Amino acid sequence: MPAGNAAIEERYEQYLMPIWKSLNVPIKRAEGCTVEDFDGNEYLDVFSGISVTNAGHRNEAVVEAAKDQLDEFIHGCTYLHPHQPAADLAEKLAEVTPGDLQKTFFANSGTEAVEGAVKLARKYTGSKEVVALEMSFHGRTLGSLSLTGNKAYKDEMAPTLNDVAHVAPPYSYRCPRCDGDSCTADCANQLERIIETHTSGDLAAVIVEPIMGEGGIIVPPEGWLERIQEITHEHGGLLIVDEVQTGYGRTGEMWASDHFDVVPDIMPQAKGIANGLPLGAFTAREEIANAFESGDHLSTFGGNPVACAAAQATIKELQDGLVANAREQGAWLGDRLADLEAAYEVVGDTRGLGLMQGVELVDPSETGPMDVAPAPDAKLAKRVGNQLREDGIVMGVGGFYSNVLRFQPPLPISREQLERTVTTIEDALDRETR
Ligand code: PLP
Repeated sequence: MPAGNAAIEERYEQYLMPIWKSLNVPIKRAEGCTVEDFDGNEYLDVFSGISVTNAGHRNEAVVEAAKDQLDEFIHGCTYLHPHQPAADLAEKLAEVTPGDLQKTFFANSGTEAVEGAVKLARKYTGSKEVVALEMSFHGRTLGSLSLTGNKAYKDEMAPTLNDVAHVAPPYSYRCPRCDGDSCTADCANQLERIIETHTSGDLAAVIVEPIMGEGGIIVPPEGWLERIQEITHEHGGLLIVDEVQTGYGRTGEMWASDHFDVVPDIMPQAKGIANGLPLGAFTAREEIANAFESGDHLSTFGGNPVACAAAQATIKELQDGLVANAREQGAWLGDRLADLEAAYEVVGDTRGLGLMQGVELVDPSETGPMDVAPAPDAKLAKRVGNQLREDGIVMGVGGFYSNVLRFQPPLPISREQLERTVTTIEDALDRETR
């Protein structure tokens, strides 16, 4: 019988469905920004279990809050036995979410939050169709998968919902209409054309990620989100801003929406909400939320009291300094990554907000899709990611073309830890390009 990491990997092989087999660092313990495996290796975590442990692994206040609730009761079904953790958290969300968003439905995950949001938009508007972005990601259950603008996730899983149309994403670096320097956010106007040509006009919602996470940390240009909302409303739809990955302090504000002049009509959340306990939510303006009638939607586990208690503590931790740290360290990191872009030809683009930053790696000897920008270099990104892991750093590697290094660390991360990560990337790039 093997011990250590090998024992876990062997049983994964034998008893878990073969998904993401290559991933990566088995986890025995974690604390703050550090993950430890079963062989006694320690890693600096720059990916937070895909942008989840925003308040730091095993954040003390969050652990305490969860333990206290475990001692009271573990399950009550939020909609059968109304409980205080759900009431407290929903009230808190009304306070911290943008504008006049007020009423929340609690689910367990991001994909459920997204699908619930679409149901609510349909119920409120009485319309059916949805427009989403090409290259977007909204989850993997069939409804969310139909919104997700990436064929790679859908292969052999079709058919998904067919009343979804897709519009070009605000990917300035690889935009065939402009490049990052001349971007006018004109792609937002494409939404009008897509609604008029690809739908029957029965628009319930447009759904966007305010920064596209799985797509490769794609930050929209100024004015884009505002124009998207304007067009959506002109066509009678609601704007669903999917903050599953961008919310809870990740971008240096509580919500990515806070960087723009937009209040979402419905806002799905998950991931960082309870710092690792499973919870999802969507919050809407009262008038929209009240379109749901008793029985329209339900979840057995949604709004679990332990997760809600953890979420309350998470929000407090974020407000007590972690969002500010994300803003401060993120600004420094953005500058540091811009230096990387200037120094290495294989770094095509660097972009992000707060502690959600991406480094897009390219092959400068070849031209990319649609003859725009150098070709994405997924192999290089994979090699750099592996090198980082060998050097004790867990880094995300992803993006639509699988060529983006993703910085999404726990928000308490220090300058020194970020500097160590960037220096290790430089070492890896030096080795690769020498
Ligand atoms: N929406 C966005 C923007 C996401 O990034 C994700 C997951 O990565 C989801 C929805 C789906 O979340 P979950 O994996 O919790 O279902």
